[in-house]
Amino acid sequence: MALSDLERDVVADIGRRREEIVALASDLIRFDTTARTPGERPRDEEALQRFLAERLLAAGAAVDLFEPDPRSLAGKPLVPQGLDFEGRPQLVARFVGVGGGRSLLLNGHVDVVPADPPDGWSSPPFAPEVRDGRLYGRGACDMKGGIAAMVLAAEVLARRGVLAGDLVVATNTDEESSGAGGMSLVAHGVRADGAIVTEPTGFDVWISCRGSSYFTLVVPGRAGHAEVAQPDWREGGAVNAIEKAVPVLNGLRLLGERWAADPALRHPRLASPSVVPTIITAGDWPVTIPGEARLTVAVTFLPAQADPHGWGSNVEQEVADAVAQICSADDWLALNPVRVDIDPNPVMPLEIPPDTPIVRAVTAAAADVAGHGRLGGLDSWYDGATFTLLADTPAVGFGPGGFETAHAVDEYVPIEDLVTCAQTLAVAALRFCGTAA
Ligand SMILES: [Zn+2]
Repeated sequence: MALSDLERDVVADIGRRREEIVALASDLIRFDTTARTPGERPRDEEALQRFLAERLLAAGAAVDLFEPDPRSLAGKPLVPQGLDFEGRPQLVARFVGVGGGRSLLLNGHVDVVPADPPDGWSSPPFAPEVRDGRLYGRGACDMKGGIAAMVLAAEVLARRGVLAGDLVVATNTDEESSGAGGMSLVAHGVRADGAIVTEPTGFDVWISCRGSSYFTLVVPGRAGHAEVAQPDWREGGAVNAIEKAVPVLNGLRLLGERWAADPALRHPRLASPSVVPTIITAGDWPVTIPGEARLTVAVTFLPAQADPHGWGSNVEQEVADAVAQICSADDWLALNPVRVDIDPNPVMPLEIPPDTPIVRAVTAAAADVAGHGRLGGLDSWYDGATFTLLADTPAVGFGPGGFETAHAVDEYVPIEDLVTCAQTLAVAALRFCGTAA
């Protein structure tokens, strides 16, 4: 499909705004919005969101900048217990269409992962720098570059006033740490007929992602003197919890290998499900046999493994059953089983059918503007799953830069990508929302 005259015009308009896009992305990077650890004070989240709110207001949007009430989010999925949003407002900016078209949500998270250690960087992570056609800085591709592109596209479209349906730009905190920010937008009533989350997809169109559940396995032992011969445990002797963690780790590795070999668990756009131990702690004294070992295990699973509500309860049960079976094969663990604590804040997998209107609109726009737009998926997770599953708003990923530089030292986004992304978003919006003839 070729570009229409209007689309061609809009694409050219955005092409002339290269410096403006780079300046906006740079402004966003300068705000330190490092994702929180529990209990941490807010940083520049409010300043960034106010900056965007003012800009979108000036472009003609109805702006809603709000601090979610923790009480309204208590017990909701993706929201850690006791989380508050003081100093971390969420932003919804709505450009009302002339009527009769579909509504489109453009979404991005404003939080970034820590830039530590900053001395590994070629330029300071929060002082954006252009080198060799790339914009460097923490969040350049994940995902302040994508936010700059969506804001620019929205401004250019708003000036023309041609969209039939509403265009909504919404930016949230707390994607990197939990998913609570996207959840708070959904709880606030954010909905649309389709959504684009401008994560760094390398211009693939993500329609799939994996879900994750986290487990803490408490492996019991029995403490005792490490330099003294121990009687059999049945006669009161010590039991080394580190050694008892070994069969547990081995058994879980076998579970992961079984999943990886299962033809029913192959996915065209996603890696096999996985079981990965990520934290292990045990022991408190060099001369004491440890009485307990704690393992944290990250389990990442496919959409096909989700329960009927889209979550990981089936997988969680499967892991718990596997641990029970491992224990039953060990004399000590059979009588003193491993305790399985499931983290109460899993994330859900995502699968959007390829014939969904928003998927068609974005793949076609990406092909026409930039010769991109393959269907893809993210092995990790993004806010698109929240909008899709909990707000009935199919939310694809599509954005500038590649995921390989996300979270990395010397994170960057190619400047050409910023422009191409804004152009593609604008064309996708024109087609998806429709235009006043
Ligand atoms: Zn991201």
